[in-house]
Amino acid sequence: MCNCHDNNDQKLAGKGNDASGTQLCDYDISVESRTASFMDLLKRVTEGSPFYQKKFAEAGVDISEIRTLDDICKLPFTNKEELRDAYPLGLQAVPDEEVVRIHSSSGTTGSPVIIPYTKGDVEVWADMMMRCYKMAGLTNTDRIQITPGYGLWTAGIGFQAGTELLGAMAVPMGPGNTEKQLQMMLDLKSTALASTSSYALLLAEEITKRELKDKIHLKVGIIGSERWSPKMRARIENELGIDTYDIFGLTEIYGPGIALDCSLHDGLHYWSDHLLFEIIDPVTGEILPDGTLGELVITTLTKEGAPLIRYRTRDLTRIFPEPCKCGCPFPRIDRLLGRTDDRIKIKGVNVYPGQIEDVILRVEGVSSEYQIILERESGRDSMLFRVEIENADDPENNKLRSRQMNKAFHDFIGVSVDVECVPVGALPRSEKKSKRVIDNREM
Ligand code: ZN
Repeated sequence: MCNCHDNNDQKLAGKGNDASGTQLCDYDISVESRTASFMDLLKRVTEGSPFYQKKFAEAGVDISEIRTLDDICKLPFTNKEELRDAYPLGLQAVPDEEVVRIHSSSGTTGSPVIIPYTKGDVEVWADMMMRCYKMAGLTNTDRIQITPGYGLWTAGIGFQAGTELLGAMAVPMGPGNTEKQLQMMLDLKSTALASTSSYALLLAEEITKRELKDKIHLKVGIIGSERWSPKMRARIENELGIDTYDIFGLTEIYGPGIALDCSLHDGLHYWSDHLLFEIIDPVTGEILPDGTLGELVITTLTKEGAPLIRYRTRDLTRIFPEPCKCGCPFPRIDRLLGRTDDRIKIKGVNVYPGQIEDVILRVEGVSSEYQIILERESGRDSMLFRVEIENADDPENNKLRSRQMNKAFHDFIGVSVDVECVPVGALPRSEKKSKRVIDNREM
């Protein structure tokens, strides 16, 4: 039984058979049901999407050969550049009269991506967001202060729609204006905060500074849109006195709310009745077995306005093979471990900063700061891994941690590296992740 039953049964009783009364284990995520959705999707795009008609024709796809979910490997990937090239409405797969809204993802380079939504898409998104709230233990008695922005970029309105569907009270603040945020938080007794991690930290610091911790009523933070370190998470939780939940999503696929970690905080459950997740090798495109780290690829099983098939997110994660101990039947991905663009190739092995951070977490007494120096001598690559540790001046401890780091690299990433342990504070601090890697190999 999923944890939503214990929390919500009583409070949601009397709300009838509307969506807010549905429990997380009541959704149909059987292979049969998902296969049927997949077949519907293929029918919809072959009939209504000029974008996929062209793509499938170019790739020589014979749709009649696709009968099971596993056959998805016969379909081509969709990437972000293609979405940009479809600007403004080239992704639309339904007649104009069915489109009720558009959202857009910001592009630092080139055209933005425009995603049209149908009424059904908006409802599905709100339902997924509501499930996230339920997973975080929220009910219709909660008051959710929403600090992400409203507008073209999706975040705020998704949090809002989910709140209303749950029957909770939305406090639609949008970003900024910390003074007003704190006043509303106090006066309206907000119980949950929807926020980016950096804004949650800013609010937390302000609340600590003003000694307001005992006066606020927050119990839960739904935090997303950026990668945040376990250390930053702990600070937000301690300073606000809340439990936080990591929310995931991207504008191309609805927006935030497609996955959330449960109360055990061991990976994020994703809504597999609406979304099909695959993990691929970002270089070869080959599908990787569950448990292996790779690039997340998403197919929107039920989306109508702009369905996407095998969309390459460039996000790195893995699908957990085993069910979650919390009892929630939805499958899980690991927290996001970085972007495929950040790849470093060393001795023929692809290494990602997220993997390195993952390895660091496994060795006790090692801090979060590291530096990588790559050299090539007579055609051979070598990698020096410099990392800050506690008690670096104790030679015995230094040797032990070096050995442990070396073994962790070998076991979890599959490369052998030279490790140098330095005292905490010895490495340069930089905002930019890329500064952590110094590549002295000639290209
Ligand atoms: Zn769980």
